[in-house]
Amino acid sequence: MNLINILKLCGGFLFRWVGFPVEPKLLKIGQPDENSPVLLTSNFNLTVHRVIKALKNIDCWLLIAPSNGINVWCGACGDDFLTSSVLSILKTSDIGNKVNHRRLILPQLSACGLDPVEIKEKTGWNVKFGPVYAKDIPEYLKNNYEKTKSQREVSFPIPARLEMASMYFSMLTIILSIIYGFCAIFIDRLDWFVYLDMICLCALMNYGALFSVPYIKLKTGRRKIIVFEGLIIGLILLFYFFIWSDVFVLIWNLVLSLLFALILSEDLHGLTPIYKSELGNANWDKGKKTMNFIIAEYKLNPYGKISINRENCIGCGVCIDVCPRNVYEMNEFEKKVDLMHPEKCINCNACVHRCLTKCLTILPD
Ligand code: SF4
Ligand code: SF4
Repeated sequence: MNLINILKLCGGFLFRWVGFPVEPKLLKIGQPDENSPVLLTSNFNLTVHRVIKALKNIDCWLLIAPSNGINVWCGACGDDFLTSSVLSILKTSDIGNKVNHRRLILPQLSACGLDPVEIKEKTGWNVKFGPVYAKDIPEYLKNNYEKTKSQREVSFPIPARLEMASMYFSMLTIILSIIYGFCAIFIDRLDWFVYLDMICLCALMNYGALFSVPYIKLKTGRRKIIVFEGLIIGLILLFYFFIWSDVFVLIWNLVLSLLFALILSEDLHGLTPIYKSELGNANWDKGKKTMNFIIAEYKLNPYGKISINRENCIGCGVCIDVCPRNVYEMNEFEKKVDLMHPEKCINCNACVHRCLTKCLTILPD
């Protein structure tokens, strides 16, 4: 990998909110032939890099579909990674003439936006939703295209928290630096030490909040941030009494920490894959169909309680296959699904969109 590509990957890691696209195309991994699996992903550079890395010992075809450089989940739940993206790359890549089967593996998290029925009707390709994480694809292929329960579920381990906090930190650092530069023209006390202090506080609050969020056992992200902010105020006071006894810096840090806390409390849960977005929920309750968060606009889907009309359930198992929180379980006796863990639902709406008999609904809380 050359330096330019490494820099682009770092850009994708830190500034994913602006989108980092690679060219949509068909990639050969290893020595694929007409029987090799065909997989598809979005054209966000970091995603493509991770999928290629996961597939390095497998002979297969990888389709990179256009998604404006947005990752699979955000792209599919928003308006960037669409059924039309899949139809377009199937056509332009001519993959149909390179293989003698019609089995296409899509990332599971694309199920909230991509429609397998439409893809089948328009192209003849049979869609299967693969595992949530690229690292599980080799095991999934070896297991004859069957996912384990853990391969279907999103998690928020430390590397993912680090990644999310870094993305947020980079964005806030840019915004704060611009504001700081402007304020420094008028306020003499704003020197390089105060700037460094501000960036350290920003890092502490970002990484601290994202790391501690699953451990603070309160119901809403806002309450978690209030507890977390209390801790930060304590640290600021210790810093004042033992390290830098400057009243201006003390007030500056307190004001900044309150500002960060306000920004983080806006949608702390929405920054994670394991809780539903409170901001999205609040906007949906107000009747909005989109919401603005920091610099981007997101399409909204219904928020509330997942519910099932069991009479219409045909036990196809699609909801089990696409749910990233393992909310459902099959009742083998009745051949219908049960809502075993409705409290885990994050309102991604994948099951609602993909259920063939339309027996799943999200009802207002
Ligand atoms: S997708 Fe719909 S019909 Fe199929 S098992 Fe789930 S609830 Fe039942
Ligand atoms: S049950 Fe909830 S989390 Fe699972 S797919 Fe449906 S909406 Fe998404």
